[in-house]
Amino acid sequence: MNNKFDLVIIGAGPGGYVAAIKAAKAGMNTAIVENIRVGGTCLNRGCIPAKAMIHASSLYEEMHSEAELVGIKADGISYDYSKIVDYKQGTTDELVAGIEGLLEGNGVTRFNGKGTLEKDGSVTVKLKEADEDGNESISLESGKVLLATGSVPSLIPIPGIDLKGVVTSDGVFALSKMPESMVIIGGGVIGVEFATVYANLGAKVTIIEALPRVLQNMDKEISQNLKMIFKKKGIDIHTGASVKSIEEIDEGLRVNYEEKDKPASATGKLVICAAGRKPNLDGLFGEGVEIEMDGKFVAVNDRFETSIPDVYAIGDIINGTQLAHAASAHGSCAVDFMNGKEPELKLSSIPGCVYTDPEIAQVGITEADAKDQEIDVITGKFIMSANGKSLITHEERGFVKVVADENTHKVLGAQMMCARATDMIAEFTTAIANDMTVEQLLSGIRPHPTYNEGIAEALEDCIGESTHTMPKRRRK
Ligand code: NAD
Repeated sequence: MNNKFDLVIIGAGPGGYVAAIKAAKAGMNTAIVENIRVGGTCLNRGCIPAKAMIHASSLYEEMHSEAELVGIKADGISYDYSKIVDYKQGTTDELVAGIEGLLEGNGVTRFNGKGTLEKDGSVTVKLKEADEDGNESISLESGKVLLATGSVPSLIPIPGIDLKGVVTSDGVFALSKMPESMVIIGGGVIGVEFATVYANLGAKVTIIEALPRVLQNMDKEISQNLKMIFKKKGIDIHTGASVKSIEEIDEGLRVNYEEKDKPASATGKLVICAAGRKPNLDGLFGEGVEIEMDGKFVAVNDRFETSIPDVYAIGDIINGTQLAHAASAHGSCAVDFMNGKEPELKLSSIPGCVYTDPEIAQVGITEADAKDQEIDVITGKFIMSANGKSLITHEERGFVKVVADENTHKVLGAQMMCARATDMIAEFTTAIANDMTVEQLLSGIRPHPTYNEGIAEALEDCIGESTHTMPKRRRK
């Protein structure tokens, strides 16, 4: 077998596999090394399975809460958790097979095994299964190497974290039985998405978050609204509450935490530790490899080059946004840089999405960020209860907010909490990436009835008054 390549990529998650396809299309003889399964965390233990679980649980919840409102009798609705798990797995498997096909179709050579970057720049692959010549490991020579090994869940160093029944997101996806109650440590993205799934399915859910609010990195109004919506759903939320230990009790597990300096506890059959993720660097560097680090991350310059010549790094192992679409964008840009091209993708505006009900999405800066950065802005807001499509689908909770530069009217940011927010945020990402103004973004006609009409209204509110909002002041 030919073991010489133009590019060897370690890690076939959304960063690595996108880079591999792009590199192959650009004419690079490309190999990709993966030790678990193509698709990485996103497809196997993250975005895709989580969104499948959210879809199934929301459908179940909607049949209970919405069906009657539109005249549908939905008696005796129930679920079979093992079938939900099968559906989640089927969706994942289908997508993984699709990516395997794309890699093959583009002529990318795949190695199943663990890749290690060696001091001489080669990549050693410890094969999962010996090859036809009986080799258990092989050495690949490559002009360039791209490190894209992603991240793994972080465990907080507290007593009881290793108890049976304490799981991370990886463990949640492996559950075959519906947990009747749970305590979630961390009110970040993973915490609130799992809370949505299991509260929809009827579990007793408690969230313990150390920071003053859930989704601390999002717009404040979004965090406040989500807390209220979760409380209505019966989710018990404690913010400003730091978990100190976990212990086994007859009824399951007790999570001890401190809230406003007072000790408190919550119990559940399951504890989900959703307290962040850390770069997956285990076994990535061979003996004598010296690579510059940026704290716990691999240090890169703005062309994704590490301190070792011809070695690049992208995605969750570098300091930045830990999101699948960010990793894919990095991969695409890194391949452009390798080929002496300036990327078209603008990495300055990466949208963030949370798949709660209603959905949450944000890109660019918030009004509070503008204040901190002393940027004069105009803002617009539209409450979705005046949006036709939202009323039809009983999804009128929520809003769209826009932030634009006061002088140039260039769109600087948007925050959305409404139905289909995660799809619609792309309107704003495109606007920000292309320096578009509020007026330019308003120039296209949005079809009726759509949720996107809410975007037009929020934009109009930036420069006057939106059509479907009552005037703020009565005109003389
Ligand atoms: P996160 O950083 O978003 O949230 C973790 C939370 O845990 C923080 O708010 C932190 O304050 C809290 N925490 C830490 N220690 C604690 C303690 N002892 N007691 C109480 N609270 C504690 O991390 P995550 O939710 O685990 O997600 C990991 C990464 O995966 C993030 O970068 C996230 O963006 C990404 N992700 C994205 C999506 C999506 O895009 N929809 C979905 C899932 C995960």
